[in-house]
Amino acid sequence: MPNGQHHQVLIVGGGTAGITVAAILRRRARNIAIAIVEPAQEHYYQPSLTLVGAGVYPLAKTHRPQASVIPPGVTWIRDAAKSFEPGKNTVQLQNGDALTYDYLVVCTGVKLDWDKIAGLADTLGRNGVCSNYSPTTAGYTWECVQKLKAGDKVVCTQPPMPFKCPGAPQKIVYLIADRLRRRGIRKDCMLDFFTHAPAIFGVPYFARALVKVAARYGIGVHYQQNLAAVDGQGKTATFEFVGDNRKGERENVPFDLLHVSPPQSPHDNIKSSPLANASGWVEVNQATMQHVRYQNVYSLGDVCSTPNSKTAAAVRKQAPVVANEIATAVAGKLVLGAYDGYASCPLTTAIGKTILAEFCYGGKVTPTLPLNPSKERWVGWRIKLTGLPLMYWHYMLKGYVWFPKHNTDFKEEAP
Ligand SMILES: Cc1cc2nc3c(=O)[nH]c(=O)nc-3n(C[C@H](O)[C@H](O)[C@H](O)COP(=O)(O)OP(=O)(O)OC[C@H]3O[C@@H](n4cnc5c(N)ncnc54)[C@H](O)[C@@H]3O)c2cc1C
Repeated sequence: MPNGQHHQVLIVGGGTAGITVAAILRRRARNIAIAIVEPAQEHYYQPSLTLVGAGVYPLAKTHRPQASVIPPGVTWIRDAAKSFEPGKNTVQLQNGDALTYDYLVVCTGVKLDWDKIAGLADTLGRNGVCSNYSPTTAGYTWECVQKLKAGDKVVCTQPPMPFKCPGAPQKIVYLIADRLRRRGIRKDCMLDFFTHAPAIFGVPYFARALVKVAARYGIGVHYQQNLAAVDGQGKTATFEFVGDNRKGERENVPFDLLHVSPPQSPHDNIKSSPLANASGWVEVNQATMQHVRYQNVYSLGDVCSTPNSKTAAAVRKQAPVVANEIATAVAGKLVLGAYDGYASCPLTTAIGKTILAEFCYGGKVTPTLPLNPSKERWVGWRIKLTGLPLMYWHYMLKGYVWFPKHNTDFKEEAP
């Protein structure tokens, strides 16, 4: 094959999932030859972007050079995959090269579909329109929050599922409310949260707690309304009703600060590949992360089809499963277990307070700490602010896999 290169394990995407799998594989079986295809020069710890938007975490601490997170001995191919031919064990790169592999791991994350909202791309980062979903706009969220004054209107949005971090769209509403409360102008401002979903959170146990948090701050919660258009200069957001009773009707809502959580989907080259399911996600077994049609292909993280919440916490539990499966196949090591759908979402309900939401497939609540998980706690805040970033950079991305077990026998109290 001209320009061809063969790799025992080829990982496409060097974000949270790609680096974690590579690092674990290096520890499991040192003789495996691994290459990562990743075009970005910087690696981001995205969960801290929520805190950047609230002015409690510097943007500079959320990223490191990609070169510094590539595990030693792993080849970094500084390019993007263009297309996938799993029938030929081949990945085509943007630069025209073709790579072949024994095992392929696909973890290219999600695409942020800013263009699906009319007018948004023209005004994002200006006119009070901000988003924590991109490192280029999270700092602007904090700029906008600081400019808020009595009489202003804050509008925050949540897109249709699936999107990464099920709590991020509403965490910022609570943090803004708390900022305004501390400045003594909370009651003089209007705060509204518009969500495409019929409930405030997908796991009823945590939804019950969050409804109370929103009520405490006096935040208006509007269900089944989807952001359809933004007029930045006119400071108006247009929402479309998606519930049965008023389906298709539109409503214009004025704002001074509009925080947008954009709709999200797989990248086009995944959607159009033979790896995709009907919705475009890489179609894998939800316990083993192995592709359902191509046995030497695995996928994890935001791009795969498993019905868990798309989080870095999910990746932390998926990555050892993928690494063990591949190490077993290549080097005859033992398989250690299956992925149970674990995800974690530290719900920052105030500066200094967090509900540590942890749950598995089916919304089963599975806390790690022996504490009532529906309570807002300072310890959860410290874990979110300091503990998890440290754990991410120095433990997870280094391929260490021992973590305290989440409690799968937890009994929810009656609502
Ligand atoms: C605002 C915000 C808050 C969040 N909060 C939390 C939280 O509190 N807790 C939590 O656990 N998670 C949180 N998350 C989600 C978490 O960051 C993601 O779930 C996680 O990063 C997914 O990892 P991934 O590797 O699948 O995708 P990413 O980390 O996004 O990595 C994908 C990589 O693929 C690369 N790529 C894309 N296309 C190609 C291509 N064609 N070829 C090669 N490489 C390609 C990209 O450059 C990128 O580096 C949050 C995310 C955001 C944005």
